[in-house]
Amino acid sequence: MFEQHLLPPISRDISGHAIHQHIRALFPILRSITGKGIVETLQYISAQIKNFSTTSVASGDLVFDWTVPKEWNVSSAKLMNKHKNIIIDINDSTLHILQYSLPFNGLVSREELEEHLFTLPNQPDLIPYKTSYYTENWGFCLSENQKKKLTDTHYYVDIDATLAPGFLTYGEVLIPGESDEEFLFSIHCCHPSLANDNLSSLAIAIELIRKLQDLPERRLSYRFLFLPGTIGSITWLARNSDKTKNIKNGLVLSCLGDKGPFTYKKAREDSASINTLMSKLLSRQSTARIWDFEPYGYDERQYCSPGFNLPVGCLMRSPNGTFPEYHTSADNLDFVTPDALESSFSLLADLITITENSLYPVSTSPYGEPQLGKRGLYPLQHEALKTDEIRDDLPDQLGLLWALNLSDGKNSILDIASRAQRSFRSILYAVGLLQKAGLLKLYGREQAQPFPTP
Ligand code: ZN
Repeated sequence: MFEQHLLPPISRDISGHAIHQHIRALFPILRSITGKGIVETLQYISAQIKNFSTTSVASGDLVFDWTVPKEWNVSSAKLMNKHKNIIIDINDSTLHILQYSLPFNGLVSREELEEHLFTLPNQPDLIPYKTSYYTENWGFCLSENQKKKLTDTHYYVDIDATLAPGFLTYGEVLIPGESDEEFLFSIHCCHPSLANDNLSSLAIAIELIRKLQDLPERRLSYRFLFLPGTIGSITWLARNSDKTKNIKNGLVLSCLGDKGPFTYKKAREDSASINTLMSKLLSRQSTARIWDFEPYGYDERQYCSPGFNLPVGCLMRSPNGTFPEYHTSADNLDFVTPDALESSFSLLADLITITENSLYPVSTSPYGEPQLGKRGLYPLQHEALKTDEIRDDLPDQLGLLWALNLSDGKNSILDIASRAQRSFRSILYAVGLLQKAGLLKLYGREQAQPFPTP
C-alpha cells in the first residue's frame, strides 16, 4: 500500500484583465483554418509558454475521410463604388470577407454583387461571420444597414487573395506528469475577430498552461491542442491515433468569456469519468447546466466519433448558437468580461486541483469518532470559525466531520465534497488537517484497503 500525499491547490490568483489582454492582442488578426493568421496566432501562444510545438500538414493529405484543404491567404479585400471610393474594407473588420473567398477583381452589377453579400436582416447593425471552406465562392459580409446603402448600378470588387497548395498548421503542448495518463484540452483557433467564440478559451488556456508548467510536481500529464475547428481535430486524430489510449479525461473549451452560467456538454459515453467530474464540480452552482451529448457543436464531435469514443466533453458558458452575439461582430472585446474570464479560469484551476488529488482517504480510527478535541480539531481551531462563515477555501466543523466519516476508502475527496455539499478546496483542506493529525491515510483508488477488524 503506497500512501499518497496531497498536492496543493492550483493558484487561482490570475487577473481577468491579464486574460483579457491576450484576447485584445489576438483580436485584430484575420484567422482562418489555414494561412498566415492562424500561424501568427500560434506564434503568439508559443511566445507565452514553454515547449509549444507546431505541426504543418500539406494540403491534399488525406486524413480519414477528409482532405487537408488548400491554404487561404488574403492581403486586401475592398468593395468600392464606381469612383473607387471604398465602401467595405477588411481593414475595418476581419469579418467583412467571406472566409475562403477566391480572388476577384472587376466591375459587377448590383444584382450580381448581391449574390455575394451576406447580412443579418434581423440584426441590421451587425456583421455576420461566414465561411465557404469547401465550396468555391467569393463574398463580403456586412451589416444589413450597410447593404441598404448600396444603391448604385455597379461596384468594383477587389479581393486580393490566394487559395493554393500550402499547409494546415496546429499547435500542441504536452506537460508531462508522473503518469502517462493524459487530460486533454482542445481549443479551436480558426475564427477571425470573435472574442468569445475561441479567443476566450485560447486566452484562458495560455494562463492554465503557465500554471501547470510552474507546478513542482504533477501526477497526470496534460495535453493542450490549438487547432482549426473540425479539420484540425480530425487531422490531429489521424496522425496521433496511437496517443488517444492515454486520454483518460478531456474537455473542449469554448465561449468562456461571456456573463452566462457554465454549460457542460457531456462526453458521448454517459459513464465517462469526465462527466462525473464536471457534474460534481458544477453541482454547487445552481445556474450551471449539464447537457447530454449530441453529435453537434465543437470538436467533441470528432473526439466522440464512434471509432474513438473518447471521454471528452465540452465546457462553455453560453453555448454556441444560443446567444445573439454568436458569430457576429457583436462578439467583440466588450462582450467578454475580465470577471467572467477569471471565474472560468478558477473553475478550470479547481478541476485540475481535483484531478491531481483524485485520492481515497482511509480513516486510521474508524471505530467510533476519534477524540478530536485533544488534537485541536473540535472545536476546529480555525479562523473560519471565528468569523462564523463557511468559506470556500477553508474547512468548517461539519465539513471536517464529513471528511472523517466518509474516509472509508470508497469515497474520493471529490465524492466527500459532493456529499458534504462543500467546495472541493474546503474538503481538501480538511483532509490535509486530518492527515496531519494522523487520523487518515491517502491512497490511490486501487490501493485503498478495507479497515482491519476492531
Ligand atoms: Zn464558431
